[in-house]
Amino acid sequence: THFGYENIPEDEKEERVYKVFENVATKYDLMNDAMSAGIHRLWKDYFISKMAPTPGTQLVDVAGGTGDIAFRFLNYVRNEDSESYNNQDRQSDVETPPELRSISESDEISESGESKTEKAKSFVTICDINQAMLDVGKSKAENLGFSSETCFIQGNAENLPLESNKYDVYTIAYGIRNCTHIDKVLQEAYRVLKPGGRFMCLEFSHVTNPLIQQLYDSYSFQVIPVMGQVLAQDWKSYQYLVESIRQFPKQEEFVEMIRNAGFKMAKYENITFGVTAIHSGFKI
Ligand code: SAM
Repeated sequence: THFGYENIPEDEKEERVYKVFENVATKYDLMNDAMSAGIHRLWKDYFISKMAPTPGTQLVDVAGGTGDIAFRFLNYVRNEDSESYNNQDRQSDVETPPELRSISESDEISESGESKTEKAKSFVTICDINQAMLDVGKSKAENLGFSSETCFIQGNAENLPLESNKYDVYTIAYGIRNCTHIDKVLQEAYRVLKPGGRFMCLEFSHVTNPLIQQLYDSYSFQVIPVMGQVLAQDWKSYQYLVESIRQFPKQEEFVEMIRNAGFKMAKYENITFGVTAIHSGFKI
């Protein structure tokens, strides 16, 4: 592979990935900021703005790690709630057909005449294979006052310990490339979503512009492992990070995999020249 980097055999991948995140768990947030110069925050904010969740949304964030997506989601719905959310002003990236809408509607009225969303409480289930990452996430949830709106479950994205047809939205951010069988992850995402629910994936992807590609390659292969060594005393984990990005399917190939898993309206959007991309689809 590039620069003599090794390919990880399939039967060793899960264990190797586990060790990577076990090693970096307590420094994970710091490293993310250092390596992306804080840009990962903007990508994650943009991801949540594309979801445009309404109060009451039940989210499962798989490979949720230290809770970055979960807490952004909860902040977003809290703000929506306090700004007396108005559905008509909402800017999602898709106009969801009425038959696909499962995210709680702001104009639904209960039998008692109250707007249901006034009471609707959003909740996030954060699932990750690595307990060390979840432990960091759990203490962040306590510090941020999100304990009652979150639960942390250890589990493999390829075989989720979760009920079928339960969630409005399934997210996986910078997690799917670490999984050994992407098709199994997608099948599980489909299973746990409610009919009408949405799959959303934020992941490093493939840069389309050759000039940017050259700059990005130099940065990835020459700077990232060095920073990993200096900040986390862990060259290998960050070497793995770079290699796993190169091995992940290209945008078109991945969107096809999402369609093959049964999702409708599957599409993707490149962000920052394709350094990262959002893929999504609906379960009907
Ligand atoms: N989603 C978080 C974020 O955006 O900051 C964490 C992303 S981190 C790069 C990748 C996470 O995927 C790690 O927490 C790792 O433990 C988790 N992971 C790797 N393989 C997994 C699997 N098969 N099932 C569930 N989680 C997995």
